[in-house]
Amino acid sequence: MDGIATAVESLRTRINKQELTGHRLSNWRRTVAWCVDDDCYLWTSNGSEFEPGSGAADITLRLSSKVLSQIVENRIPFFIALWATGEIIFEGSFSDAYHLGYLFLSDNRSRKVVFLAHCFMNMNARFPEGAAYPGVCAPLVQTLIDAGVGIIQMPCPEFRCLGAEKELYGELDPDELRSCFRKMASEVVDDVQAYLNAGFQIAGIIGMNPSPSCGVEITKGKETMLGTGRSTGEKAGSGVFIEEMINVAESRGLLDLPVFGVRRMLRGESGMDERLADLKRKLS
Ligand code: SF4
Repeated sequence: MDGIATAVESLRTRINKQELTGHRLSNWRRTVAWCVDDDCYLWTSNGSEFEPGSGAADITLRLSSKVLSQIVENRIPFFIALWATGEIIFEGSFSDAYHLGYLFLSDNRSRKVVFLAHCFMNMNARFPEGAAYPGVCAPLVQTLIDAGVGIIQMPCPEFRCLGAEKELYGELDPDELRSCFRKMASEVVDDVQAYLNAGFQIAGIIGMNPSPSCGVEITKGKETMLGTGRSTGEKAGSGVFIEEMINVAESRGLLDLPVFGVRRMLRGESGMDERLADLKRKLS
């Protein structure tokens, strides 16, 4: 085998060893031609890995032996050469080019995400006097940054269903309110499912205790929002949005999602350090 053939073969071995290659190739059967200088080498996906190929190529990559060695030596990532610098010219669909980019993925992403109650990222959605910070709940967000997770901000159900200043609080029929919250909860579960299907870790679905909507372990005044009572005391149990989300998830067979709440922080309250230490523990 000459040097170029050996280099192409080493890339095939590298791809086949990547943890998610089997998953990524399961629905992607393609023949890839690597045309380096004057010679072409074929790989074919058998549904779980690439094997030496034959026949017509679905996507052809044209590059120099110099660029090939840079990719083999990890001096340039494959997709950067293909997409950003144009050192690999490809013939084929953009979808297949992207598929190859993910097969070669070597960047810094942790593949861990959390779904976060909207108002931890945007205090502007909070109830009157509920914003202890001007924009984001900075200490909590910093804890998530330090944990290396991507943060997916869930929608604020009260903002969407009750108005920007919760004008319809306690005014909607309970079924109407639940149906509005359920629609958003379903969309969140769609995203959770998509991340799980792509092999990501969901490190947490983080609600906000004791919200009547986003509380997980504790709620306060859920009946007042549903218009079914006037008690404003705290009670064990989940808010309406979280209840709907768990129902939707369970109906799709997602039974063990890591759903937990972090208690809100009001101005002048203490206890943030304990909340953050607990959050860190749950993320580790
Ligand atoms: S707890 Fe939920 S409903 Fe309440 S403001 Fe935050 S995101 Fe909106």
